[in-house]
Amino acid sequence: MKTIITIMVTASMMLVSCGDNAPVKENGQLSVSGIHLINQYGDTVMLHGVSYGWHNWWPRFYNEGTVTELTEDWGINVIRAAMGVEPDDGYLKSPEWSREKVETIVDAAIKNDIYVIIDWHAHGIHTEEAAEFFSEIARKYGAYPHVIYEIFNEPVRDSWDTIKQYSIEVIRAIREHDPDNIILVGSPYWDQDLHIVADDPIEGFDNLMYALHFYAATHGESLRDRGDYAMSKGIPLFISESAGMEASGDGPIDYEAWSRWINWMKEHKISWVTWSISDKDETCSMLKESAGSEGGWTKEDLKESGIKTRELMREMGDKE
Ligand code: MG
Repeated sequence: MKTIITIMVTASMMLVSCGDNAPVKENGQLSVSGIHLINQYGDTVMLHGVSYGWHNWWPRFYNEGTVTELTEDWGINVIRAAMGVEPDDGYLKSPEWSREKVETIVDAAIKNDIYVIIDWHAHGIHTEEAAEFFSEIARKYGAYPHVIYEIFNEPVRDSWDTIKQYSIEVIRAIREHDPDNIILVGSPYWDQDLHIVADDPIEGFDNLMYALHFYAATHGESLRDRGDYAMSKGIPLFISESAGMEASGDGPIDYEAWSRWINWMKEHKISWVTWSISDKDETCSMLKESAGSEGGWTKEDLKESGIKTRELMREMGDKE
């Protein structure tokens, strides 16, 4: 009888782990080994998910309802809170409100058992403010395996030397409170100059990965070549923002070019995030204005990029 009960309990536990989307329960604390993101058992993990648009322009989607919808219906295992820094209503001018928006998403991600990227969505350097923000965030959330820090969305004009110095200061601020969670470092020129990073990486810290961003109708083979070069030099990559249209976020989706990127990411087990959960009149915004602020979306609420991204995410999350 005891054996039968044991078998039944084991079988029901297996059902839970196979049937539910519970990525953090399954993978636990992430770390970096060589160029790979690995889980608590040392197996390589490939995260897939979506990014919110800038919180200052699309705060209406920054709530628990959308996190639950994206987890349960789209099958994502990571979500990115893009905290705008420089614009009006961004972190520099409205720090408390901004942090509250981001923390709403972090708390909802923890509740939904998915990973969450806290993205300092800036294009310029604000060392003191970033170090203070991430220090407070790491103190509050550093013990949660769910959290990933992205310390500089897309540097534009700053040299790698400058970005590197900035990154080291922010990494130190995080590591005072959180010794282990993954930190994503921004690469020069909109996260594209990976070849420069590869020749002079940051030394002395564990669990760092470098961001590569692509927009498939603009960026192709030559950017993947840079990624290949970086990986050949032992640089771990994380695609924290990407999509199928032009770099402007607009214009037609190039499905062929996009699928070449997806095949490359799958081949190298590179985690990827697609841009963005917002409702602007542009190709990359995945939602229409009709989309409810707290989820409950039908196909009619999704734009072309939303329909395709949902399909890709469900496929990656084995929901098809
Ligand atoms: Mg930690």
